[in-house]
Amino acid sequence: AKSAGGNRFELADPEADARAITRHGLTTALPAALDRGEFFIEYQPLVHLGDGSVRGAEALVRWLHPQHGVLGPDRFIPLAEHTGLIVPLGRWVLEQSVRQARAWQERHGGAGPLRINVNLSPCQLTHPGLVQDTVDILEREGLDADALCLEVTESALIGADDDLLKPLRRLAEMGVDIALDDFGTGYSNLANLRRLPVSILKLDRSFTQGMQQFPADPVDLKIVEGIVSLAHSLDLAVTVEGVETGAQAEQLRILGCDTAQGWYYARPGPPERLHELALVDATG
Ligand code: C2E
Ligand code: CA
Ligand code: CA
Ligand code: CA
Repeated sequence: AKSAGGNRFELADPEADARAITRHGLTTALPAALDRGEFFIEYQPLVHLGDGSVRGAEALVRWLHPQHGVLGPDRFIPLAEHTGLIVPLGRWVLEQSVRQARAWQERHGGAGPLRINVNLSPCQLTHPGLVQDTVDILEREGLDADALCLEVTESALIGADDDLLKPLRRLAEMGVDIALDDFGTGYSNLANLRRLPVSILKLDRSFTQGMQQFPADPVDLKIVEGIVSLAHSLDLAVTVEGVETGAQAEQLRILGCDTAQGWYYARPGPPERLHELALVDATG
């Protein structure tokens, strides 16, 4: 790739070329990677803002590539969506996560169940096996549907017709929570929310960024306040993403947000980590 910046000519951009090659290489390597077990999942705690207790975790997939090391989902999920591998990969993520949630519940004893949040890509939503696969996995692993939350991005549901919503409705009726992920980035019609079988709004990180300083940006405060009151009036819980400081956590708690997730509490990590965090929490 050649590019001209201003009045200076630049030579071929070796990094851009490497990226393009890598993209192609990664795409062709994806199916074998799933067979070889190169994917793994990190878990990030979801914390109740009122009392600070760990209530569950979001499963975030990673690829331990033999040459490139650990790759984040932004590097390969779009490729997996493009090639259709996202369906078996997503099923694998769901199965692992549900199994892990069951293991936490067993080890955690009477301290209250830990819930598990799993991301669904739009291709999985339109795949006819979604409901049956989910039912099978929950049954096989012995996890209650109430302990599972599926996260669907706001953009995937904009303008969604009934065919697209049917499987989500079915899952919601079973007790699975549906969360609207990256909420606030998709310009969806707020009145539309009533039509969707969702019970949780996950407020996008861009909203919490303005609250890193104290006092926070007053416009950001107003917007979050408005979204929280709308959500609660529709019986939706609000989870906030990207909480990086104590000041953010405190302001979001005051604004009435229910659950938080972010580096302030913990980075995504191995499953043992979540178990420790939850245990510490339960024993005070
Ligand atoms: P997401 O669902 O919005 O996940 C939250 C992302 O924010 C994660 O990035 C997480 O590591 C990051 N994050 C968490 N706390 C903080 C914080 O305090 N500050 C900042 N700056 N970032 C924070 P990650 O793991 O790279 O995942 C990126 C995206 O990849 C996810 O965004 C999700 O859309 C997608 N993804 C991850 N796992 C899966 C999966 O199993 N299936 C599908 N379809 N998509 C997945
Ligand atoms: Ca998510
Ligand atoms: Ca439920
Ligand atoms: Ca998100």
